Amino acid sequence: MAAIDVDALVVRYGDITAVDGVGFTVESGEVVTLLGPNGAGKTSTIEILEGYRRPDEGSVSVLGLDPIVDRVRLAPRIGVMPQVGGVYPGIRCIEMLRLYAGFHTSPADPEELLERVGLVDRARSMWRHLSGGEQQRLSLALALIGHPQVAFLDEPTAGVDVTGRRLVRQVVRDLAESGVAVLLTTHDLAEAEKVADRVVIVDHGNLVAAGPLAELAATSGARQIRFGAPSGLDAAGLGSVLGATVIEESPGEYRVDVEPTPTAIATLTSWLAERDLPLADLRAGRHRLEDIFLTLTGNDTDRGDDDDH
Ligand code: ATP
Repeated sequence: MAAIDVDALVVRYGDITAVDGVGFTVESGEVVTLLGPNGAGKTSTIEILEGYRRPDEGSVSVLGLDPIVDRVRLAPRIGVMPQVGGVYPGIRCIEMLRLYAGFHTSPADPEELLERVGLVDRARSMWRHLSGGEQQRLSLALALIGHPQVAFLDEPTAGVDVTGRRLVRQVVRDLAESGVAVLLTTHDLAEAEKVADRVVIVDHGNLVAAGPLAELAATSGARQIRFGAPSGLDAAGLGSVLGATVIEESPGEYRVDVEPTPTAIATLTSWLAERDLPLADLRAGRHRLEDIFLTLTGNDTDRGDDDDH
């Protein structure tokens, strides 16, 4: 039995169908990331799993139980990050954790949790005085106070700095290693790539792909070569010797949709060498999660504008 089971789920708000027949599972000890553009139906799916509303069609179960019917049995076994509005703004971090600890029979140690999320020096700070990233880290700690078997983490790295992200990632990996089923949402694809065992991609309420990243990459079409070189290369000239289109995605960052065979790579590097041009960086192989995501959600038209890699 999967720890989280979503089967043909449909969620409607009046005329809007927010989730339209989505199905996936999360096993104990696994991290699954739910990805999708704004309005794709991620929060609606998680809210159903958290028991906030009933499915309009289809069914869900968490640890084999119904999130609404079995709410009392389930509540102590699941971890949910409270929304900003759900936290008393004048309460101090450590007090908040102690308050939540009181809801559970064998809670985690509040001080230790603060350390795990890197907030020890903010223990006596009030919630409303925390930065956005610090509030997010405290929310994560609150989700974990009851030693949950299933954790729903809604954008745990939103607004969190680089050091904090590393801590959050470690917390998520530790949870999975201790057997917790983790379902998280994020808009940070690089983060998803680092932490997820599997990804589930939804768009306009529909599931567009699900599986381990390596599998999605293998099925997402042609493989590619990416490289860095001076901007303004003769892309058409290089493309003709490679037999493929060369795209300058952002100044000095190139992509060639060609099978990265040793011959193709040798052709590329000799073309640059003949012109005495430097090679800043060379990556060959599978598509990045960002490419898979943009292709599957049909948003790959204006990549050059916001690609910060
Ligand atoms: P985001 O990435 O922006 O958080 P999401 O994938 O979590 O988006 P949802 O919040 O599940 O998306 O929303 C899915 C769709 O349902 C959107 O079109 C949204 O406007 C709509 N929606 C969500 N909640 C409600 C509601 N309470 N009433 C009416 N429409 C809603």
